[in-house]
Amino acid sequence: MTTIRVGHLYPEYLNIYADRGNIAVFQHRTTARGLELAVEPVSVGDELRAGEHDLLYIGGGQDREEELIAPDLAARGEAIRDAVAGGAALLAVCGGYQLLGRFYRERSGVELSGAGLFPLHTVAGERRMIGDCLIECELEPGVRRTLAGFENHAGITRLDEGVQPLGRVVAGFGNDGESGYEGARVGAAVGTYLHGPLLPRNPWLADWLLARALEHRLGEPVELDPLDDELEHEAHEVSAARARARGGRF
Ligand code: GLN
Repeated sequence: MTTIRVGHLYPEYLNIYADRGNIAVFQHRTTARGLELAVEPVSVGDELRAGEHDLLYIGGGQDREEELIAPDLAARGEAIRDAVAGGAALLAVCGGYQLLGRFYRERSGVELSGAGLFPLHTVAGERRMIGDCLIECELEPGVRRTLAGFENHAGITRLDEGVQPLGRVVAGFGNDGESGYEGARVGAAVGTYLHGPLLPRNPWLADWLLARALEHRLGEPVELDPLDDELEHEAHEVSAARARARGGRF
């Protein structure tokens, strides 16, 4: 049986809004296809060996948790960048997304160095950007799909010139409340502010990441069989409708 190897970074620190639920979705969608998912927690001081994981996952947290793990994560910058350059998939949510950029500067002025995977930086602003959020993505040219989720951040994230966002904001704030961009993408690595957790209501993104992870494992192109996602699509619609009811951006 083929096994997809997942490295779950700092699971005991970064799990706000049940971000761990994203792992449960990966698990379900893997076993439903007769594949196996092996999840290894990688926390402060643990080794992250090159090429060992097909998929890396990091959730969100408050500033306090971000401070606790930031030095350890920054020290892994090269290993994480190498993994993604080698084709591994990665999903980073909120606090984890911020710390995979160059730095995150807190309201207090404390600046946390990041892992430097995503070419961006984040500075905490005065208002919290909070509420349901809907974005439109085009990860494959010509294929447009929406992601619905919930955002809650004070961090204002600015992408470097030319960096690909994960999507365009349909309703909500996104990275900074003004550019109309949400998240970032580098290769098969995706960073986003969307919680929820994110994947139960956006199964297409779970499959996109799993397909990339499986390609990394097998070294050949992969197409996953579709699953019955009726409930997931209903959840997506409820969440998308809540975001639209905010009445557009901001
Ligand atoms: N501490 C970050 C912020 O408020 C991230 C919060 C989160 O992960 N929800 O910007």
